[in-house]
Amino acid sequence: MSNDKVATSVLYSALKPSEAQEGKIKEFIAKKYGEDISLEWIEDKSIADGFRLEVGQEVYDWTNAGRLEQFKEMILNAVGKKYSDNVIPLIRENIKDWAPKGVPTEYGVVTSIGDGIATVSGLKSATYGEILLFSEGIRGMVLDLREDEIGCILFDDTDEISEGSRVRRTGRSAGVPVGNGFLGRVVNPLGIPIDGKGDIEAEDYRAIESPAPGIIERQPVNRPMETGILCIDSMFPIGRGQRELIIGDRQTGKTAIALDTIVNQKGKDVICIYVAIGQKASLISQMVTNLKKHGAMDYTIIVNASASDAAPIQYIAPYSGCSLAEFFMHQGKDVLIVYDDLSKHAIAYRSLSLLLDRSPGREAYPGDVFYLHSRLLERAAHLSDELGGGSITALPIVETQAGDVAAYIPTNIISITDGQIFLESELFFEGQRPAVNVGLSVSRVGGDAQTKAMKKSSGSLRLDLAQYREMEVFTQFSSDLDEATQKQLTYGHGLMYILRQPQYKPYSQHQQVILLTVALNKYFMDVPVKNIQSEIARLLEHFEMSHSDICSKIDSTGLISDDDRAAIMKYALEFKGRN
Ligand code: ATP
Ligand code: MG
Repeated sequence: MSNDKVATSVLYSALKPSEAQEGKIKEFIAKKYGEDISLEWIEDKSIADGFRLEVGQEVYDWTNAGRLEQFKEMILNAVGKKYSDNVIPLIRENIKDWAPKGVPTEYGVVTSIGDGIATVSGLKSATYGEILLFSEGIRGMVLDLREDEIGCILFDDTDEISEGSRVRRTGRSAGVPVGNGFLGRVVNPLGIPIDGKGDIEAEDYRAIESPAPGIIERQPVNRPMETGILCIDSMFPIGRGQRELIIGDRQTGKTAIALDTIVNQKGKDVICIYVAIGQKASLISQMVTNLKKHGAMDYTIIVNASASDAAPIQYIAPYSGCSLAEFFMHQGKDVLIVYDDLSKHAIAYRSLSLLLDRSPGREAYPGDVFYLHSRLLERAAHLSDELGGGSITALPIVETQAGDVAAYIPTNIISITDGQIFLESELFFEGQRPAVNVGLSVSRVGGDAQTKAMKKSSGSLRLDLAQYREMEVFTQFSSDLDEATQKQLTYGHGLMYILRQPQYKPYSQHQQVILLTVALNKYFMDVPVKNIQSEIARLLEHFEMSHSDICSKIDSTGLISDDDRAAIMKYALEFKGRN
């Protein structure tokens, strides 16, 4: 109930109420609001049956239309849970014991509207994140609470609302339908399918904003989330429950890394969610085709807020995606979620904030832009065994301008995540793809999650590459190099070629282990760099054909003994000698 002093109340009806009726209503008001409220009657011929009572801002609608409205809402609430189920039995079931309630509905009035934003006056007790219902069934979400007004973002087309339209509270916070039926589908951030494959049967409804798991509810990151990309799995391993940023200029292969990781989860019992924010619809449809081609769509959900969607839709997209992910995580499953990308998300939030008249700060972003992403990324977690042991691994993507990682949004997100894969245009154009800058990339928690086999075989790779880079710089201007330096350079140069990897060709664990073992033992020293990729393919094929026991042993145990390493080297050299 409202705590404000309510001075007057008004009763609308077609006929003047009898004294007895008036007495009853006065009694009702006195009981709910105190004694000192006067009751005024206003004739309203448009009310065919029943009456409407307004006490301050609260409206009790006992007209026929009002009761119908209440009934509709109850049905909607019930249907919301079962989304596509047949509605008729539900209505039957509910209508049996339905009676209109004396619950007040708080109404407000739209004072201004435009650009997907409405300001509303009157809704004194509305809460942050609550869903408001406008006329014509248009929904909005409260995003700004001011002393005498509310700023609200709108999720539907706004043409039908104008200044003076009525707005109703719903008392519910924004949420999305969730369920196993979403796998393999493309949906918008409101959970509505946009792939033309019909309705989705939802199992539950989850708020889009929910608090991140606490410390007690978590356990350390200790199981690997393999990307299948040699360069990443060997030097910047990612663990289940980790948040690893993919950062780089435009067109440097950021999305490609995320997609390869999704493709690599085939048969690994991981659910993947790809959240696209502000991208071209054509790119998304191409992506779906590619994922299908690689058999990855069966365990993947795409949440798409494309560039043509309004800023409010783009703003809620990552939160919706995360709610879907949480649904699976709480069932004990492992989920991989990609946010592509958070720079565009921040831009959508900036435009909302400016429209809501919030004061702009650095780069015109509002003051709470850090919280915008920290509360999202904190929801990635590895849950404790008591809670089922599920996990959400987050791969946020950020686009930089001219490699500037010190800009506002990149620094924020770098500080929130557990490491970053830094991609560089220069490397990309040289043909070094994936264009990972080995010096600037890091993974802070994934080391514990790496299998022993991977850890052992990737040994000195990072160090060797660092030495190579240093030497490359120093020897740029000298013409005659001694033999040892020359060898070092050839070796490092070869390593860079070994790290090249085409798109959609993830390596399995045993392939990576074998490749690293032979490469770090200088197997490729005498192979011309242009032949390295084909040599790798031939060697790996040979191992799978002739030494499949070693391969399956590595894959199943995640271990490798010194004897096995020696054996791999021996087999490899034998293979080389034969050609
Ligand atoms: P944007 O900034 O537009 O989102 P992006 O950084 O996400 O771009 P991608 O779209 O992933 O970059 O890749 C850009 C182009 O490079 C694509 O055509 C992709 O096919 C190609 N590409 C990416 N990775 C590789 C790779 N490892 N080998 C070969 N080509 C690649
Ligand atoms: Mg991209």
